[in-house]
Amino acid sequence: MDKNYRFEPELLVDLINSLKRLPGIGVRSARRIAYHLLQHDLKGASLLSNSLIKAVESLRNCKGCNGFTEYDLCYICSNQLRDKKLLCIVETPTDQNSLESSHGYKGLYYILMGRVSPLEGIGPKELNFHLVLDRAKDGVVEEVIIATSFTAEGETTAQFLITMLSEHGIKTTRLARGVPAGSELEYIDAGTIAWALVDRRQVS
Ligand SMILES: [Zn+2]
Repeated sequence: MDKNYRFEPELLVDLINSLKRLPGIGVRSARRIAYHLLQHDLKGASLLSNSLIKAVESLRNCKGCNGFTEYDLCYICSNQLRDKKLLCIVETPTDQNSLESSHGYKGLYYILMGRVSPLEGIGPKELNFHLVLDRAKDGVVEEVIIATSFTAEGETTAQFLITMLSEHGIKTTRLARGVPAGSELEYIDAGTIAWALVDRRQVS
């Protein structure tokens, strides 16, 4: 069969190609999702497209934590009851959710939106570490808690952060190793995270 033989409408091919951009979605899953939405869930498809458009248009990075918000400051950063002396650095908003659901942390966050990955060409510069430093040196923060994952890349990220923060004399702690090496924060249960927070160790 001719490799370029096509029978699907162009709009459907476009939809499949767009879905394929999602993490973990290959062409087979993308096609299945596209067929499902068009055949069985037109309402869901409209909801999805509307939410995507609104989110892309209205969400921006919080000035305090770099997470997503519709305003200058997110709910957590503008909450006066949070402890502004503590700044916890996480890789992703998902990791922040894990820490929040442990109910063991009342400080503020900084979300890197990624991790150091030399193989993918992502280093401190790409992750804007200078903004982390600015945030940590705001004169209010007294302790930076590094809560990157216990994976190889998470540990590398932690090392870069520890080096940078210690050069500026900032008290830095790391989550306790109550979790198995190689663990992504998002898969660790809330109780373990709460314990790892309490038992954090000073690294600089
Ligand atoms: Zn924020």
